[in-house]
Amino acid sequence: MQDFNVTILGCGSATPTASRNPTSQVIEVCGRLLLIDCGEGAQIQMRKFKVKFQKIDTIFISHLHGDHYLGLIGYLQSMHLLGRKNPLYLFGPAPLKEILDIQFKYSYTALNYELVFTATNTKQKELLFEDKCIEVHSFPLSHRIPTTGFLVKEKIKLLPIKKEALAEYKISVAAIQSIKEGGDYTTEDGTMIPNKLITMPPLPLRSYAYCSDTIYDERITEYIRGTDLLYHESTFLHDMLKRAKETFHTTALQAAQIAVLAQAKQLLLGHFSARYNDLSDFLTEAKPVFENTLLAEEGTTYSIK
Ligand SMILES: [Zn+2]
Repeated sequence: MQDFNVTILGCGSATPTASRNPTSQVIEVCGRLLLIDCGEGAQIQMRKFKVKFQKIDTIFISHLHGDHYLGLIGYLQSMHLLGRKNPLYLFGPAPLKEILDIQFKYSYTALNYELVFTATNTKQKELLFEDKCIEVHSFPLSHRIPTTGFLVKEKIKLLPIKKEALAEYKISVAAIQSIKEGGDYTTEDGTMIPNKLITMPPLPLRSYAYCSDTIYDERITEYIRGTDLLYHESTFLHDMLKRAKETFHTTALQAAQIAVLAQAKQLLLGHFSARYNDLSDFLTEAKPVFENTLLAEEGTTYSIK
């Protein structure tokens, strides 16, 4: 089974603190690296946690509050200075293009690589990106400015070939890919072996949902139903519900309620307000509602099995 991992680079909200960076995370899926949000300091965190910096080829920005994208210009410039040649695909709210253009214009920077920008639709769900093995969708969140969440989904699963079939039918290396994709196999003497005799059922498709920033909004559950891992913001504890509502954020208790309604398999809480040093109360609050809850920790990789 290929790795499907989420590495947290930053899980703080608003301002950086000595112990937490603003939001950013790297997703490893189907052999590629995706970046979701790029708060200030994201590239330093990548260095610290040994993320393969130049291997990231697609970046998704949820919204234009600074704690979700102020690290982007620095990261794009570093890749330029380090000699990147491969194109980089960037998805985010439409004004992001203008912001980047003006920064490059006044620093007289012409990137060595192609930066391909696509504006996200902040009003409805949209397929942003797909390759042979994954799809990435955006969907609207309810925040103070236009914001999207992201859903990263495996698309197809290759069929595992039974070990004993390899020897029994002397399956050649050249035929393996087509069998994994569902094709039958013809032996050297011309006998056709049906695919289902030589393969096992595919493993279930996995998905990861990212929901930050948003007020408590049950409508989002339709976009993320049954996801294996749900990252949901929990900026505040529930005793600050009034503040959460005013700022269009969510409490830990509410994030757990969303996980229940969405039938998520696991919940990862993040986007913690700088006012909290000890985060244990977030778990105390969320777990009675949704038991399989974890706290995001910077530098930790969460595997989706
Ligand atoms: Zn925000």
